[in-house]
Amino acid sequence: MADPKGFLTTPREDWPRRPAEERVRDWDEVYVPGALLPLIGPQADRCMDCGVPFCHEACPLGNLIPEWNELVARGDWRAASDRLHATNNFPEFTGRLCPAPCEAGCVLAIDQPAVTIKNVECAIADRAWEEGFTSPRPPDRLSGRTVAVIGSGPAGLAAAQQLTRAGHTVAVYERDDRVGGLLRYGIPAFKMEKRHLERRVDQMRAEGTRFRTSTAVGRDTDAAELRARYDALVIATGATAWRELPVPGRELAGVHQAMEYLPLANRVCEGDLAASPLSAAGKHVVIVGGGDTGADCLGTAVRDGAASVTQLDIYAQPGTARDEEAEPWPTYPRLYRLSVAHEEAGRLRSAPAADADARLFAASTLRLTGDTRGHVRSLHLVGVDAGRHPLPGTERTLPADLVLLALGFSGPDRTDGLVDGLGLELDPRGTIARDRDFATNVPRVFAAGDAARGQSLIVWAIAEGRSVAAAVDRHLSDGGTRLPAPIGPYDRPMTA
Ligand SMILES: Cc1cc2nc3c(=O)[nH]c(=O)nc-3n(C[C@H](O)[C@H](O)[C@H](O)COP(=O)(O)OP(=O)(O)OC[C@H]3O[C@@H](n4cnc5c(N)ncnc54)[C@H](O)[C@@H]3O)c2cc1C
Ligand code: SF4
Repeated sequence: MADPKGFLTTPREDWPRRPAEERVRDWDEVYVPGALLPLIGPQADRCMDCGVPFCHEACPLGNLIPEWNELVARGDWRAASDRLHATNNFPEFTGRLCPAPCEAGCVLAIDQPAVTIKNVECAIADRAWEEGFTSPRPPDRLSGRTVAVIGSGPAGLAAAQQLTRAGHTVAVYERDDRVGGLLRYGIPAFKMEKRHLERRVDQMRAEGTRFRTSTAVGRDTDAAELRARYDALVIATGATAWRELPVPGRELAGVHQAMEYLPLANRVCEGDLAASPLSAAGKHVVIVGGGDTGADCLGTAVRDGAASVTQLDIYAQPGTARDEEAEPWPTYPRLYRLSVAHEEAGRLRSAPAADADARLFAASTLRLTGDTRGHVRSLHLVGVDAGRHPLPGTERTLPADLVLLALGFSGPDRTDGLVDGLGLELDPRGTIARDRDFATNVPRVFAAGDAARGQSLIVWAIAEGRSVAAAVDRHLSDGGTRLPAPIGPYDRPMTA
């Protein structure tokens, strides 16, 4: 602890965001550029260096948070970068995108605002790139063993980087035309600009990882043949099979899945398209689903220039303070949180029917109706109680020219033939079954990330990638490995 009184003398200060009116006119990150570094030293100094750092336990990667807080407070950025990269391959991703369960577990958070752990992480990562602390780390010698990683999201990338650095020859197969998984096509650029992804992929290429894009394993390449060519396979194909909305009118034109809409917006930002064919410009948009994917649709629709945007959440509006009985510290509580997209939509493009943040809580969709040409025009909903039972007299109708379904994902996509081509067993939830060593029922085939864990978070995907790499290295190296394994396949978040 550089300053033992830091937490008493310094209030919490977050990385400031650009004004909503300004940021919705572009796709750049929402934060004020250059504003993070000047404030981060005193913020890191608020860390109390607790004897039992619950933040460390709450982070699936086991990030050594008190250690790097102290190094930042002392201005030793190189050592801070080394400590951070010892547990996290991609801290600039988590520093921007993680919901920060560590902050819910921060001891300060018992009775005052937590340390800005996520901001400190991001500052260390960005400074590391600026100062050149992130030069490629190719292995000293090669093992002669080969691994194919299928899927280039955060789980596949983390697994590939760990295995390459351990000396194995690694090829990453990706069905999209670019590497990155949901970091590339899904998560909007205003949450994380893609240059951060490019930089890491360049680093990985320089270390020796090879990338084969536009190759869907199971469709473009035979999965069994691929398995025969490599010493081990890691399946990190994500959980991209989306859930449906089974209501009358679902078949109308103008009703789309969130993951049909968001990747097109990403492609506009990449320069592939002049405009998205599903652009929300001038339309009344209703998003069905109250989670983060829905919030990403909200921010994207506002930037498209929607006439109005409403997000429906079937759950009641949570409170702003932790329920000490149901979700005691240090668990990650369900709270009312105002994301950047809610802040923007509420101020700039809210539908008259919605609350100030463009959300309608405890709302269930009854049906969709359209015009004579079969295009959706209205969404009919009803208020529900905690048991999702309709409340009489709460029916209402929203104008809807574009309806986006953000209802979550059920498991890996099976249309490519990878799961069936290899004969992979699924568990009862529909995700790829694996044992304690991340091994599937098929010898030499391992599974990691959302494909096996189910829909989750980037921090868990990176932790999965690091852990499966350790398991594969053990398998290829006759039982020994120096690679760290932060989690087991059955570890779960610290939630109530
Ligand atoms: C819209 C959206 C926003 C999100 N925002 C956040 C956020 O802000 N913070 C957060 O922590 N989490 C967020 N998440 C969740 C997070 O993105 C995922 O948990 C994470 O990306 C999972 O990583 P993964 O590597 O397991 O899979 P993915 O990122 O899904 O990557 C899987 C990759 O495998 C490829 N693939 C699939 N099948 C094949 C095949 N047969 N052959 C070759 N390649 C194949 C896919 O094309 C894809 O590129 C978000 C999710 C969505 C949908
Ligand atoms: S990865 Fe997420 S949980 Fe871990 S320290 Fe960073 S913000 Fe916290």
